[in-house]
Amino acid sequence: AAKKAGRNTFCLFSQEMESALHFRTGLENDLRRAIENGEFSLHYQPQRDQAGRLIGVEALARWHSPFRGPVSPGLFIPVAEASGLILPLGHWVFEQACRQSVRWNRSDNGNRPPVVIAVNVSALQLRQPDFVQDILRTIEETGAQATHLKLELTESAMVEDVQATIDKMLELKRHGLTLALDDFGTGYSSLSLLKRLPLDQLKIDQSFVRELLATPSDVAIARSIIALADALGLEVIAEGVETREQQQFLAALGCTRYQGYLFGKPVPAEQFDGSY
Ligand code: C2E
Ligand code: MG
Ligand code: MG
Ligand code: MG
Repeated sequence: AAKKAGRNTFCLFSQEMESALHFRTGLENDLRRAIENGEFSLHYQPQRDQAGRLIGVEALARWHSPFRGPVSPGLFIPVAEASGLILPLGHWVFEQACRQSVRWNRSDNGNRPPVVIAVNVSALQLRQPDFVQDILRTIEETGAQATHLKLELTESAMVEDVQATIDKMLELKRHGLTLALDDFGTGYSSLSLLKRLPLDQLKIDQSFVRELLATPSDVAIARSIIALADALGLEVIAEGVETREQQQFLAALGCTRYQGYLFGKPVPAEQFDGSY
């Protein structure tokens, strides 16, 4: 009986793996076509200070497939990363963000402060030897200003070939871009590494914000990240702020920059103009 159970367990597992593989292969093929057919768009989510003033926006990729309907980035970004399709997709995202930045920051836009657009960058993109060149060329070709663009990097991009990564970051900063570390606290990077990275901002991951009011360990983590950012001279922003209580709690801990549904959901660029 034990042998039989073992066999069944094995079969079940391999069936699951096979369907997962099918799912991924299907998604990957659709994704490849979707990039060629231009099925992507960008949404923008506001980042605000304590007074509710706009301090930036994050660009988030959206895929509307003609047969699948809207597909969540949580689903297609990992497939794009594993297949290498994140390279053409990421290039497209950055170029669109640059074009939007030019529209939002035209000199005839009155006395509004410039809008800084934060763009997510995958580890695989950052690892490309010509990554910096590609970014700088896109900025030049679109007529955008480097100071109006921020790159959101993840800890996973920092573990490999640290010196090469730091060199790229320094070159981007020399040209005026700013750099944020996304989902901070969820990856593997060490404090000694963090100390070496030429960052401008830490983003407190939404997993620590979600149950902040009910979870003492999340409070301890949020407090530590804020203190760490302060000690290292970095800005800190909290992600996934959904309630006034969370915002007030974060403010009491010393975090004064927020992103989350409380301050605005990600929306297409056209819907943004009224929300300054
Ligand atoms: P992320 O960069 O950490 O982006 C924040 C995610 O949290 C977004 O999910 C956003 O819609 C969601 N969010 C914002 N406020 C709230 C809130 O108050 N509550 C909750 N529950 N969620 C909130 P989204 O758009 O589904 O994107 C998921 C992830 O996919 C992003 O996480 C990012 O890692 C990745 N991603 C999205 N667009 C791109 C892209 O263009 N390039 C790359 N490389 N990754 C991307
Ligand atoms: Mg992000
Ligand atoms: Mg994040
Ligand atoms: Mg996240």
